[in-house]
Amino acid sequence: MVKLPIYLDYNSTTPCDPRVVEAMLPYFTRKFGNAASRSHVFGWEGEEAVSQAREQVAALIGAEPEEIVFTSGATEGDNLALKGVFELYRSKGNHIITVATEHKAVLDSCHHIEKLGGEVEFLPVDAEGLIDPAQLEAAIRPTTILIAVMYANNEIGVIQPIRTISNIARRHGVLFFTDATQAVGKVPVNVQEDGIDLLALSAHKLYGPKGIGALYVRRRDPRVRLTAQMDGGGHEKGMRSGTLNVPAIVGLGKACVLCAAEMKKDTAHVMALRDQLENGLLTIEGARVNGSRDPQKRLPQTTNISFSHIDGQALLAGLGKDIALSSGSACTSASMEPSYVLKALGLADDLAHSSLRLGLGRWTTQEEIDYAIRRIGDEVARLREKSILWETYKNI
Ligand SMILES: *Cc1c(COP(=O)(O)O)cnc(C)c1O
Repeated sequence: MVKLPIYLDYNSTTPCDPRVVEAMLPYFTRKFGNAASRSHVFGWEGEEAVSQAREQVAALIGAEPEEIVFTSGATEGDNLALKGVFELYRSKGNHIITVATEHKAVLDSCHHIEKLGGEVEFLPVDAEGLIDPAQLEAAIRPTTILIAVMYANNEIGVIQPIRTISNIARRHGVLFFTDATQAVGKVPVNVQEDGIDLLALSAHKLYGPKGIGALYVRRRDPRVRLTAQMDGGGHEKGMRSGTLNVPAIVGLGKACVLCAAEMKKDTAHVMALRDQLENGLLTIEGARVNGSRDPQKRLPQTTNISFSHIDGQALLAGLGKDIALSSGSACTSASMEPSYVLKALGLADDLAHSSLRLGLGRWTTQEEIDYAIRRIGDEVARLREKSILWETYKNI
């Protein structure tokens, strides 16, 4: 028997790997020093742990340790990258290009920037969720200072053509920022090979603790500068003040080491199960996958499926106590609005409403996937039995 409820919401957050917790523990108690204390061994110990973690995070994304700024997570990283670049480069220009399907932390930072006099272009996506690079290039103006395109989408898992985008940015002398929160640790990300100038990541999406993340800020070719959004003691080279959360930083570092060492294994594991899950659910009448079906253009652990003529809220409610999953993004799932990401793909409200986002992870089992296929199939059938919409549709 499979143990209920099963967790298929890894894109929303992941449990901490026990090896990560173990690495963190001493830094709550015995090694509690403030990493900024220069005058005693407690501080040195903290500083040493932070500097090791900085190397570990940098190694996972092909960066230099000095290019890593610790933040409270990707929301802060997104805010710091967008607002920090806007403030610093404002005399050069006020134009930013981003995409309609970005995370709210990017979209709302952009709306904030608009209120400060910035001009932001929100590019549309095609039915697979991908941007059109030609359209991106055409949108560049002499005043464009930043292009912000996420690496992989949190709802549909679609991976944008990052190298094509960074090439365009380079050619026009525009900085390129990517929210890579869903991609780092899951697929190979390399700031050099990918041509990335700024990158946000978050520990709790890669089996680390919540409330810690990092912003990569390029130091050479070009040297990127930004205005701090948190002023104070001048930590993190003045880019982010505040006493460092040493245990969490140690956890993020350890999580990065594990992701690098186990990426091949993790990917093979989740991809095989994801494909089974997807194929199983696609045998249900009126089921369709949202986003690209090309495995090269999608995260290995994510699938997003719509079921026609189903009330999504009822489906979620029916499954809720047995399967933890989400419809649309976690941040908006409290509201009744259908996912803006799915709407941007061109889905009608009813299909966008009746979608499930399934995120698999390191501890997802075969039994859980077999159970989920059966349970979701049964629930869809049960709801359709009661549905006048489905009756009408079937009789046409
Ligand atoms: C989860 C997520 C965020 C927010 O990260 P936090 O660390 O929880 O603030 C931002 N962007 C994407 C793509 C995400 O998936």
